[in-house]
Amino acid sequence: MANDAVWPCPKCQTNMSPGPSVLLRNWHCPACAFDWVSGEALAAFLPTVKAFEKLRSAAASGELPTRMLQCPTCRTRPMRLVRIGGIVIDVCRKCVGVALDPGELNAFKAHGQRRPYAVAADDVITGLDAILHLLTLF
Ligand SMILES: [Zn+2]
Ligand SMILES: [Zn+2]
Repeated sequence: MANDAVWPCPKCQTNMSPGPSVLLRNWHCPACAFDWVSGEALAAFLPTVKAFEKLRSAAASGELPTRMLQCPTCRTRPMRLVRIGGIVIDVCRKCVGVALDPGELNAFKAHGQRRPYAVAADDVITGLDAILHLLTLF
């Protein structure tokens, strides 16, 4: 997937623009303020394959309901709600991309400040906590 791809917002279909993060490629909707991280970008960034697979299995399970959002990358819909650290995000059931409601990035940042992680300790950062940590880096 090319980095300069133009992807439609999962909620309102407006073309998104690249987000400000230099650590992880993300896209931002100028119309409704949704943020998007592709599954490919997540997989490349996460410290362990296990962390990515855990998010994938959470998205595939039926623990929480789905929401009528369309994945910008693979056009799958609806997306699965997944709870991470008390915050609920939308995850694509096919490619594991993550959609964030307006304001959720700030919620993750606040959470990350309460529970700092040692980035160097890769073996400590596993599972969904790794996703949470990574989302605080936006
Ligand atoms: Zn939008
Ligand atoms: Zn997808």
